Amino acid sequence: MGVPFLDLKLQYNLLKEDLDESIGRVVSSQHFILGPEVQSLEEEVADYLGAPFAVGVASGTDALLLPLRAMEAEPGSEVILPAFTFFATAGAVWNAGLKPVFCDVQRETFNVTAETLEAVWTERTRAVIPVHLFGQMAPMAEIREVCRRRGAFVLEDAAQAIGAKQLYSAARLGGEQSDHSSLSLAEEDSSRGWMMAGALGDAAAFSFFPTKNLGGFGDGGLVTTSDEGFAEKVSKLRVHGGKQMYHHEMVGTNSRLDALQAAVLRVKLPYLDGWAEARQKNAALYDEILGDTEGVTLPTVAPGNSHVYNQYTLKAHQRDELRDHLAERGIGSGLYYPLGLHLQECFGDLGGKAGDLPVTEALTEEVVSLPIFPELTEGQVTEVAEAVREFYSG
Ligand SMILES: *Cc1c(COP(=O)(O)O)cnc(C)c1O
Repeated sequence: MGVPFLDLKLQYNLLKEDLDESIGRVVSSQHFILGPEVQSLEEEVADYLGAPFAVGVASGTDALLLPLRAMEAEPGSEVILPAFTFFATAGAVWNAGLKPVFCDVQRETFNVTAETLEAVWTERTRAVIPVHLFGQMAPMAEIREVCRRRGAFVLEDAAQAIGAKQLYSAARLGGEQSDHSSLSLAEEDSSRGWMMAGALGDAAAFSFFPTKNLGGFGDGGLVTTSDEGFAEKVSKLRVHGGKQMYHHEMVGTNSRLDALQAAVLRVKLPYLDGWAEARQKNAALYDEILGDTEGVTLPTVAPGNSHVYNQYTLKAHQRDELRDHLAERGIGSGLYYPLGLHLQECFGDLGGKAGDLPVTEALTEEVVSLPIFPELTEGQVTEVAEAVREFYSG
């Protein structure tokens, strides 16, 4: 029968009435730039995440770029990020006038660790960007610890991970004090509690690109931070660097979250956790059917993590042939990502070469993502999983 990799129309049809009404509301008001819809979304997302401040911006890419500019690091300062991520993570560093330094990832989780970050650390390192790839958080306790010890800003790339959670010691959060951070989320409770992606960095970037777990009707993004002054700086940078019209303290840009997008996202936000549960249910069914399939390695959920599966990504033998096999049956699949960022042509001058980051390079040959969107039926998940099994048994 075939299964699409992603079908956004199903979600739209489910919420059509409310979504159309929200757009009508903005159109009737003719208030398109910032204003009440954007402010309300910022408050609602901050509340949802447990992050003190949220600033809506034009895209996930800008949600990385603006904090990197707001850091006001010396030009040429180094920022460590994984080579196994979407291009925007590195592009933002470059466009902020900083130097991307690529590190490897952990094979099991696809994420950076304190160890992979430290392997490329230098005296010029000013920030690190842990990417919560595919919807699972990188290990934030050890990452914060190394950044605190060595003095670096932590910018979470949570573009794929809105709603993801990690068990984190509240006592630990209170005890730390980074030079760059005024994190003060300490609770009286010293036990470990669930913390959301975007609440554990000095700042974090989210994307509302339509294919993300919380997707708008176009581009959109959001920055979270626990530092009020930093939030204010990002707010200025999104409107040409001035709080007061026609007075500019910094050179910013035009990067506002559109009021129409904010209105759409406000309708969707209350459904986000339910959609994550549906993704987790689909993942569990894949795990069950594919568990003993020779030839594939299932995605790993690290202890103390709640994975929200923006992607369900296998490591597969004969990956390209498997994808052809699925395509012949009308089944969509995705390839994130086919080339490490350290090997991209545009970064040639940075001197990266094949062999530098062996885990990333192996993953780019092995990974394949299966359909995982919340509206999939059990029958569809089963059909995809059986087609994978058939490939390896045939
Ligand atoms: C999608 C994505 C971005 C960029 O978001 P846009 O809204 O498309 O600009 C950045 N980082 C990661 C990891 C992403 O998946």
